[in-house]
Amino acid sequence: MARLMARRRNIVIAAGSLLALAGVISGTVAVATQDTDGMGGVSAQGSASPDGKGGGGASAVPSDALPSGPVSASLAHETERGGKNVALTIDDGPDPVWTPRTLAVLKQNGVKAVFCMIGPSARAHPDLVKQIVAAGHRLCDHSVDHNTAMDKRSEEYQRQQVLDAKKMIEEAAGGTAAVHYYRAPGGAFTPYSRGLSAANGMRPLGWNVDTHDWQRPGVDRIVATVKREVREGPIILFHDGGGERSQSVEALARCISWLKEEGYGFDFPKV
Ligand SMILES: [Zn+2]
Repeated sequence: MARLMARRRNIVIAAGSLLALAGVISGTVAVATQDTDGMGGVSAQGSASPDGKGGGGASAVPSDALPSGPVSASLAHETERGGKNVALTIDDGPDPVWTPRTLAVLKQNGVKAVFCMIGPSARAHPDLVKQIVAAGHRLCDHSVDHNTAMDKRSEEYQRQQVLDAKKMIEEAAGGTAAVHYYRAPGGAFTPYSRGLSAANGMRPLGWNVDTHDWQRPGVDRIVATVKREVREGPIILFHDGGGERSQSVEALARCISWLKEEGYGFDFPKV
């Protein structure tokens, strides 16, 4: 096992060097360096997280212990820089009404976010995907059909949901932007889907603060949830698709203002 890990580390280093030379083909490099035994190892070691939240389960395993290639297969619950920073993640778009308003709020505040997209929605609105990339935000694969029970389905089904959506998002973005993360709908990750996404260069993306904004509980309650729960962790979940999202847009603006007043910075989730 130690020899295997050492060999893989060398592979990772080699992949890193290649990435530096050819960033635009990072996805291809990640796939090419995945050993055939990698997926089995991930499946055997990981454990499913029912909702993507919290620090338990597989996320408690040091990422070095997960033989998944250049990207860790553990759920990301931290930001790249750490410290007093949060990461805004915005799910279920892109949407022709709510995504532009969300982008406007982020631009007004000079804040970057991660957009977790439904594959067919990305394909239907490539202009929005390109706007998101051009504004410096990052892309996340949020599956084809948003089946929150996909963890109960076959590996073949999960593979289709993850990889087809990745392709749709990449094509909508114009073929040059990376999809940095994969977030299972409703947090329905499996060890298999985490390993698969990691092998394809996408870090499985969890969350710490669930605003429940999609249930439209009122702007005040969404903001209160962020104020109360941000101490639990930095990755905050909002939505710009899947329904009427005016509360989400207003709450996002108020949360960003409050977070800035409290001294928080803004960062991306750790890849
Ligand atoms: Zn979702």
